[in-house]
Amino acid sequence: MRLVVVGCGYVGLVSGACLAELGHDVVCVDTDAARIEALNAGAVPIFEPGLEQMVGRMLHAGRLSFASAIPQLGNDIDAVFIAVGTPPSKNGFGADLTYVYAVAREIADRAGQKLLVVTKSTVPVGTGDMIERIIRERRPDLDLHVASNPEFLREGSALRDFMEPDRIVLGCNLAAPLKTLQAIYDPITRFGVPILATDRKAAELIKYAANAFLAVKITFINEIADLCEAIGTDVNDVANGVGLDRRIGRAFLQAGPGYGGSCFPKDTAALIATAQDWAVNLRLVETTIATNEARKRSMARRVISAMGGNVFGKTVAILGLTFKPNTDDMRDAPSIGLVSALQHAGAKIKVYDPEGMEHARTMLAGVDYAINAYDCAEHADCIVVMTEWEEFASLNAAQLADLVRTRLVVDMRNALDPEQLRAAGFTVSAIGRPADG
Ligand code: NAD
Repeated sequence: MRLVVVGCGYVGLVSGACLAELGHDVVCVDTDAARIEALNAGAVPIFEPGLEQMVGRMLHAGRLSFASAIPQLGNDIDAVFIAVGTPPSKNGFGADLTYVYAVAREIADRAGQKLLVVTKSTVPVGTGDMIERIIRERRPDLDLHVASNPEFLREGSALRDFMEPDRIVLGCNLAAPLKTLQAIYDPITRFGVPILATDRKAAELIKYAANAFLAVKITFINEIADLCEAIGTDVNDVANGVGLDRRIGRAFLQAGPGYGGSCFPKDTAALIATAQDWAVNLRLVETTIATNEARKRSMARRVISAMGGNVFGKTVAILGLTFKPNTDDMRDAPSIGLVSALQHAGAKIKVYDPEGMEHARTMLAGVDYAINAYDCAEHADCIVVMTEWEEFASLNAAQLADLVRTRLVVDMRNALDPEQLRAAGFTVSAIGRPADG
């Protein structure tokens, strides 16, 4: 089948490459000309395990190409996927749909006689109706269908998530476009992945409801972690015991410094905006957002208090900056607020992240960038682990002990072995675990 994917970010690029891998002919479009130039040369501008190899393979196979403008959409194009960003709106309320609607207008101007538009971007309920209206206004003659196909991939495991999803949600109101979408995904669904066909609004809401539920789950275990610390027991044992219940599951019961990233904060806020538009209270989600924000802010206090209440002139080494491991994505990462709060309190900050340094340089001012974790730890008065990169788990505690000025670790992710650290003379403050001393 012949497909166009508009937007070459984390979702568009992964979707485009994977759809090509499934056997389709795919053109990926992005207005960022430098990005397209790099992609045409086989250079993938984002870090996502396996993506560069897949893009290279598909370019070579001739099933994937890149363009800086939407091509003429002849009748041989089976579907156009919209995968552009939907950031928080500038007025701080809901999602900014500027990019999505701009694409809708461009699609209308390039369309032939028939078109199936599929929204992969996370968009509020009713956006599909608006896309349809925008296109119909410009092209009343067009045989048009607009479907919602929300994407559930996670950065860091995006290729596997796309190829082996838990489900594929297809929101469209008519049988003909549904059949086309089923055919597009047939190479995946024939191996047993369920398709859930719903109306467009339900599909749009499913994505927000799923992300909000996960945000609630994380926030719940974070509060249980606080209780564990007060009681003097280990949240990991509690999470294991709770998570073994199949009705609950262990995923997203990892206590930490509060969720961040490019999806949960903006999607929970956008869901609240939708609920308010419909005069419905989503108090649980509202409380989750507020609790999470307070938690992220409290993490600097945690570090300062572990350092004896005063960090002025002291050096804090931060290991991990991205909002989670195996991505270079720094959007809304909890590390950003922590760095600025510690700087505000007078601390000097050294940072290291295996993949996030390039983006960090555009976001964090006045910090020293280390070349590896050991370099970061040198002369530090405290090591703070903000992202559970696998390489941090194998750091040599004795070597770290020789490098630092003060043997103190605040582990926000329970990523390091506290026993090894203690054996090397460190005092350890770990989320949801009994305090030292
Ligand atoms: P991103 O910011 O990484 O990428 C968006 C891309 O769209 C950019 O490269 C930008 O240049 C391009 N773009 C903007 N306007 C354009 C236009 N008019 N024509 C062509 N290209 C244009 O965003 P992302 O993280 O890939 O997210 C895309 C959407 O998918 C969002 O709605 C997001 O909520 C959703 N989503 C993201 C994830 C994730 O993990 N990142 C997961 C599931 C869903």
